[in-house]
Amino acid sequence: MKRKILLIYTGGTIGMLRNSETKALEPFPFHNIYKHLPMLSLIDAEIIFYEMNPLIDSSDTNPKYWIKLAKEIYDHYDNVDGFVILHGTDTMAYTSSALSFLLENLNKPVILTGSQLPLGVMRTDGRENILNSIEIAATYIDDRPAVPEVCIYFENSLYRGNRSYKDNAEEFNAFTSSNYPKLATVGVKIKFNEAYIHQCNDKKLILHTQIDDNIAILKLYPGITLPLIATVFKTPNIRAVILESFGAGNAPTYPDFLNIIEDAIKQGIIVVNVTQCKGGGSVEAGLYSGSALLKKIGVVSGYDITTEAAVTKLMYLLGQNLATDKIKKLMGISLRGEMLNTEI
Ligand code: ASP
Repeated sequence: MKRKILLIYTGGTIGMLRNSETKALEPFPFHNIYKHLPMLSLIDAEIIFYEMNPLIDSSDTNPKYWIKLAKEIYDHYDNVDGFVILHGTDTMAYTSSALSFLLENLNKPVILTGSQLPLGVMRTDGRENILNSIEIAATYIDDRPAVPEVCIYFENSLYRGNRSYKDNAEEFNAFTSSNYPKLATVGVKIKFNEAYIHQCNDKKLILHTQIDDNIAILKLYPGITLPLIATVFKTPNIRAVILESFGAGNAPTYPDFLNIIEDAIKQGIIVVNVTQCKGGGSVEAGLYSGSALLKKIGVVSGYDITTEAAVTKLMYLLGQNLATDKIKKLMGISLRGEMLNTEI
């Protein structure tokens, strides 16, 4: 039986062609894709195309666009076996994280991919990325999808979407997932890392369409000034701040710094501690006095969550009309496999 895959095109480098007159890169009309990727017609799956409007450079994405994408997936969910989304690489990890939260009880593959070189360029990495993504999305074992979750596929590797981030603007190998193993690797064979892939269940897909974007990221650095910190917490309507801390969750220990944060927490602002260390590791509140003090004043630990997943998880939770204490609790628990204890 041929599996049906919905191929959603959002824009990004992958769909660019060089305009012969201006020489600038522009998105090409998607119906021309067979011209640039003739092998697509040989793939053992039925492909249905959908082009988002507008097509964007992913730097222009926003929560409304994520909701639009999630809705598209929801609307086609019962009629197709999997989804492949062609997306710019710059914010792909935000979109994949957001989709994982907006699509609760997802039990079908949603694979985001893109490329560093446009499809219209001879050495493009886009060709392999698209073909392999479609093949993975169409892989069913014993009538169950091999990877029923939101993923990023890039350069022979499949990653959990809300565990990944872009870490290279030059090499084909643009993504990584430091705190979670790859879900699959592609060589002569596609090897699925089953122990780490979400298991299908019979729950019904729930689409969430409310997001509250009144959040901020405050990246600490030696010498950061108090007025700057205070300004962030005084941003109109601010409801949550992600504190990007040092190492295993450490921050300055002097009272004036802590007082600003403590006052904000007392006023109901949620503060989540996320480490700046991209290469791996977790916030360990209490390991050093810097993190112990943050914990004492009510800062929530984000454990090993990526900043991308923390941003989208907060926006999603704040959109759900939950009590502040409940949101704080949920920020410390894995909802979609985005952090430690990934039982999803
Ligand atoms: N600026 C592009 C984008 O994110 C880069 C890419 O696609 O790789 O849309």
